[in-house]
Amino acid sequence: MAPATFGIDLGTTHSCIAYVDEAARPVIAKSAVGEDTTPSVVYFEQPGVALVGTAAKNSALLAPHLVAQLVKRDMGRKNTEFTYHGRRYTPEKISALILRELARAAEENTGHTVRDVVITVPAYFGIAERDATRKAGEIAGLNVLDVLDEPVAAALHHHALDSSPQTRHVLVYDLGGGTFDTTVIRVSGDDIQVVCTDGDGELGGANWDERIVDHLLAAFREAHPNLDPSADEQAMQAFAERAEEVKKALSATMSRNVALRVGGAAVTVPFTRQQFEDLTADLLDRTLAITGRAIETARRKGVEHFDEVLLAGGMTRMPAVAARLKQRFGLDARLSEPDLAVAKGAALFALIRQAKNVRGDARQLGITAVDAMAKKRVATVVPRAFGVKALDPRDPLALTDPLRARQMVAHLLQANTELPADTGPYPFQTAIDNQRMAEIEVWEQAGPTASEELADNTKVGHGMLTGIPARPAGCRIEITFYMSETGALTVHAKELEGGNDVRFDLAIGGMDHKAVAKARTDIAGHQVSG
Ligand code: AMP
Repeated sequence: MAPATFGIDLGTTHSCIAYVDEAARPVIAKSAVGEDTTPSVVYFEQPGVALVGTAAKNSALLAPHLVAQLVKRDMGRKNTEFTYHGRRYTPEKISALILRELARAAEENTGHTVRDVVITVPAYFGIAERDATRKAGEIAGLNVLDVLDEPVAAALHHHALDSSPQTRHVLVYDLGGGTFDTTVIRVSGDDIQVVCTDGDGELGGANWDERIVDHLLAAFREAHPNLDPSADEQAMQAFAERAEEVKKALSATMSRNVALRVGGAAVTVPFTRQQFEDLTADLLDRTLAITGRAIETARRKGVEHFDEVLLAGGMTRMPAVAARLKQRFGLDARLSEPDLAVAKGAALFALIRQAKNVRGDARQLGITAVDAMAKKRVATVVPRAFGVKALDPRDPLALTDPLRARQMVAHLLQANTELPADTGPYPFQTAIDNQRMAEIEVWEQAGPTASEELADNTKVGHGMLTGIPARPAGCRIEITFYMSETGALTVHAKELEGGNDVRFDLAIGGMDHKAVAKARTDIAGHQVSG
């Protein structure tokens, strides 16, 4: 058997793993229970015993204190840990357990060893979140060839990135179970680049489900005014399941009856697609507002027209999505396996990454597309701006009373700069007379758009420049940022009076090799099943 490479969509609510078969087609490797996707839920059944997926999801309401879910939202967050059975777990470790189960089930169902993988991340993920995702893979014992933007993976799946001499622009609208994002990609020959991305990390299918649950609850109470199912956890679990089922059903049919039973009391609630769309119209409107913002950002960057509009995420199966994109923006969206597209695209990308190694095998296997794909280059960009904390030079207090002057973040490295990047020296000055040292604080943009306000940025590290000669304020300091292709940041600060300098590397992900090795040993001792 050829050594397969796998693509993994490590999602907020669902994950999915795929590989490329002998006929060069990406294929989903099924979960332990024979499904295409696996809920990204971990149930710590006993110390050192983890259930992952559907079984874990079903335990969520019965033993919520032993269940981890939506952990993707915490990826890359420092000092975040969860405790189960007295053991501490970082988001990376919990993700590693999900990855181990995906790999285990895929090995069982395909016969291929799962070792070399590409894992996808949202385009808005910063360096820390990307690094945490890579580390999660390493903790799971996988060889992470690369982390890839989800919209780029979706576009690969749709062949929207196939080589053509003309520059094309692709808009990806991705509405999943827990998050929404929309991304514009530029394809020029073999170069693929993210132009801009926008989204809401707290908007997804679960919000639609909640609306249906509220509606069902109201209908139940109307029929049985003396009963309150909301106090009954098992009843609420059943309502949540019915809500998701009817939501999915209404993507294919115009109406559905929902049968509810709490204790001995039962009611059947008729529910139509129109009712559903009316109940949730404002949620869809929020995604459209964000899409409008992304289109506007892309326009400012010279994108006038979209050659392709692609839908990703299971929620885009709702007919209202494509209909509203057409109505509001005149966009004709393509829908094809939206919940599997990202994993399949990642599998194709894993093959690209391995192309050099597998070319021999590929010829043998008749994969003619591999050579063409191997030429493709996905430009990695800095997803968010990086800068240093400085006094605002426009504030008159900066000269007269620097301690009270406005502090801001001066961005040296702008979002969407291609990597590797070298900013060249940026000029700064000492603020105080006889200032002998300067703390270089490095900050990363936290929100969707770059802003100078400290509150809109997160501190990611610092270094100390010492040995500045005693001089009046205004000693010149030059700061340069270098960022490698994988996002490792090196900061160089030099004072020009005495010639002293400091250079420091920021491991923005926070976990060093030793910590990864330790986490890997911890997780290796766990028994994981689906
Ligand atoms: P994802 O995270 O991309 O797998 O998206 C999962 C979300 O899509 C969940 O909220 C599902 O309930 C939802 N979903 C899956 N299939 C459908 C469908 N046919 N119609 C509407 N929503 C769906």
